[in-house]
Amino acid sequence: MKERIVILGAGESGVGAAVLAKKKGFIPFVSDNGSIREPYKSVLVKHGILWEEGKHSADLILDAVEVIKSPGIPEDSKVVKAIIAKGIPMVSEIEFAYRYTKAKKICITGSNGKTTTSCMIYHMLKKAGMKTVLAGNVGKSFALQVAEGDYDYYVIELSSFQLDGMVDFRADIAILMNITPDHLDRYGYDMKRYIESKFRITRNQSVDDYFIYCFDDEIIKANMNRVKGNAKTLSFSLDTFDNQAAYVKQEIVNFHINKDHFTMSIHDLALKGKHNAYNSMAAGIAGQLLNIRKEMIRASLSDFQGVEHRLEPVIKVHGIQFINDSKATNVNSSWYALESMTDNVIWIAGGIDKGNDYNILKDLVTRKVKAIICLGKDNSKLHKAFAECTESIVDTNSMAEAVRTAYYLGKKGDTVLLSPACASFDLFENYEDRGRQFKQAVRAL
Ligand code: ADP
Repeated sequence: MKERIVILGAGESGVGAAVLAKKKGFIPFVSDNGSIREPYKSVLVKHGILWEEGKHSADLILDAVEVIKSPGIPEDSKVVKAIIAKGIPMVSEIEFAYRYTKAKKICITGSNGKTTTSCMIYHMLKKAGMKTVLAGNVGKSFALQVAEGDYDYYVIELSSFQLDGMVDFRADIAILMNITPDHLDRYGYDMKRYIESKFRITRNQSVDDYFIYCFDDEIIKANMNRVKGNAKTLSFSLDTFDNQAAYVKQEIVNFHINKDHFTMSIHDLALKGKHNAYNSMAAGIAGQLLNIRKEMIRASLSDFQGVEHRLEPVIKVHGIQFINDSKATNVNSSWYALESMTDNVIWIAGGIDKGNDYNILKDLVTRKVKAIICLGKDNSKLHKAFAECTESIVDTNSMAEAVRTAYYLGKKGDTVLLSPACASFDLFENYEDRGRQFKQAVRAL
């Protein structure tokens, strides 16, 4: 008799897991206590997968041989407690999919830079002619990619929540970009638990695997004792040259791996700013470990197109450059955005503040920002933090108003930067919606 697998949560990962479970001969059942979004319903129908929405029915769930739980469903919810009490094994979608592929997995995590670095590595592998695909937190779920394709290399972006659900999963190459406070609400405001979660990317790694990390990140360095496996470690740095697999010295990026050395000018990197130098170094090290030719690594780091909503240049209007960095949803990413600007910035910021400490931005704002346009329901913290740092701070209520105000304040040579340092849910559906509205408003000027 076929075995029943229950999938809790019908988002990208749940639906992907259900499709894979069906393909592997199980009877999947998907249960979501909210409403299931349309594109996902069609996928379930297409594959003849049964589901329920608006509830979790115990009688349909508790006879499963295994449960695949979406990272969004809290451990202390009633349904999860009942599953645990019944002793039914519970895994994540990533863990489940892992059982069905022998391909190499390059996994990227960190508080910031995950998507950019993942896309860079994917671009490099694709350009080198390898059979590869992007999966995880960016694009389609890992399970769906395993179900639908046959690849030699999976480039997988992993959030800390996805890492939490891992048991036997092993990354051939694990990359940890940085650790700064984020999503702490999900970890009981305990930074230690968040850090622990990020280091799970090294779990099960063996001596044949690699762990790549940022040597300039003090939190990572102070927690290297949390590395779980036995991988070879490699690091990259902008401040230190010794023992680094990649570093920058006098504007030259050096890659130095397994006695192999090659260089490129920092000016040839497609993406600018310190943060992108980190992303490019991490990607280049991964490329080198995968034996991609140096010329190919250089070429792909030089012609990478960037990712939408990440310091994405929109257009120039009367000499004023508009940049969309809507994905900057925390203070740290806005720091890197501002750091990469020359002066005369009109900065559009604000939204839902996840306990932000704006102190680290004060110096950059004083030096570079001539006006702040606040775009959030409650802007009081921005006013308080930056009152002394800039000429003017203006409140606005919609993207169109924010863009018009910025344009009105701007002069030829200025840059209008949307880099909110906050989540978007007060005025927008999500950061993509916020970025798209920004671009629309700019084009309408
Ligand atoms: P993630 O997928 O981790 O959210 P992204 O690559 O989508 O990261 O970038 C999100 C934002 O973070 C970008 O808009 C940029 O301002 C900033 N950022 C990108 N790379 C880094 C990095 N290595 N360190 C710090 N901030 C970064």
